[in-house]
Amino acid sequence: MSNSEWKSVGNGHLEGSISIPDLDPSKLIVTLTARLKPIPQPESLVFGATMSDHMLIASFDPINGWSAPEIKPYGPITLDPASSCFQYATNTFEGMKAYIGPDGSARLFRPEKNMARLARSAERLALPPFNTDALLELIKRLVVVDQRWIPNLEGHSLYIRPTIIGTRSALGVSASDHALLYVILSPSGPYFRTGPKPIALLAAAENVRAWPGGTGSHKVAGNYAPGFLPQRNAAKQGYDQILWLLRDKAGWKVTEAGAMNVFIVLSREDGDIDLITPPLDGTILPGVTRDSVLAIAKAHTSGNLTLPGIPSTQSVHPYEQTFTIADMDQWFAEGRLQELFVVGTAVVVAHVGRVGFQDDMKKPARDLVLPSHEGRMGPVSRAVRQMIIDIQQGKVEWDGWSVRCE
Ligand SMILES: *Cc1c(COP(=O)(O)O)cnc(C)c1O
Repeated sequence: MSNSEWKSVGNGHLEGSISIPDLDPSKLIVTLTARLKPIPQPESLVFGATMSDHMLIASFDPINGWSAPEIKPYGPITLDPASSCFQYATNTFEGMKAYIGPDGSARLFRPEKNMARLARSAERLALPPFNTDALLELIKRLVVVDQRWIPNLEGHSLYIRPTIIGTRSALGVSASDHALLYVILSPSGPYFRTGPKPIALLAAAENVRAWPGGTGSHKVAGNYAPGFLPQRNAAKQGYDQILWLLRDKAGWKVTEAGAMNVFIVLSREDGDIDLITPPLDGTILPGVTRDSVLAIAKAHTSGNLTLPGIPSTQSVHPYEQTFTIADMDQWFAEGRLQELFVVGTAVVVAHVGRVGFQDDMKKPARDLVLPSHEGRMGPVSRAVRQMIIDIQQGKVEWDGWSVRCE
């Protein structure tokens, strides 16, 4: 029986034709470091560069199932050079953050969504399943152990990187029936130290991130390395990130930007606002931030909350709808195109000032310059950014999104 046929049944066991142990928090072994590291000044933090004192780790093999999970000092791991993860990219990861709430407790933001996505990504790579509630409980334990690493400052957090890698040590091109699951923590500051700056995106026709039937809707490592060369080429031309396009009958469809989801803001004749993001058609990563932006726009419009700076009488209508470069040109010409912004756990919300479109790589890109809003973020970008940060940091309670680590 191949490992992908195991099923997590949530009682500490994986069931296939026989039963083997699932990930089990009651078996957790905690070994604390003998030497705590000094915590860097929050102002000096570079995203993802500093790791905390401890990590969580567990291994899977098809006979013994998941090992007893361990929290132990952060450090190198040893792997066979033939391991599946090095040869065939059987790697998947998550990105989430912990914050200090007003009550001094550590909090996570909608973590069950990250757990469910990690389980889907692992399944897509035929890596072994795991109990998602168990992993969440273990992550909470790890965050509490390293709580002193959560910077208690507006816009700061502890970035959490759960990772699963295939460790089958054989070169046959097939699924990995061995795996390692680990979680590492990195304190992080605001994406833009000097306040939000508009970013420039390059939409180059030759760059395709994801396609129908591919793995674009999963957070699997193999999706990212092929984007690094286009990203470097875009940077050489003065752009911050790639705006990923996908060509089909509709034209040049806008999909995502870098590793972030995209939103466009349009004014309407009735004074309301349209907020549009591409639909989850299999080429879009289902971002937790994306889902949160859609939900709070809907809540504003139904009167359940008020977005800061947007009058409660002005509705923000969210749509999951395809749009193309030609649509953007038309909305711009009509004067309706107000804002373009990108969202994700690391950045939360960043606004876009300029989009270059390059359909012929031998010619320079043609730029579309968005309204400048007097050098600030546009009102919708600013409102959703502030609302999400307030919910993440526990200043605003909303729908159980901010979850305590206890
Ligand atoms: C992680 C990621 C996002 C953002 O997802 P969040 O859950 O909001 O962090 C968007 N696009 C891609 C390609 C990603 O990898």
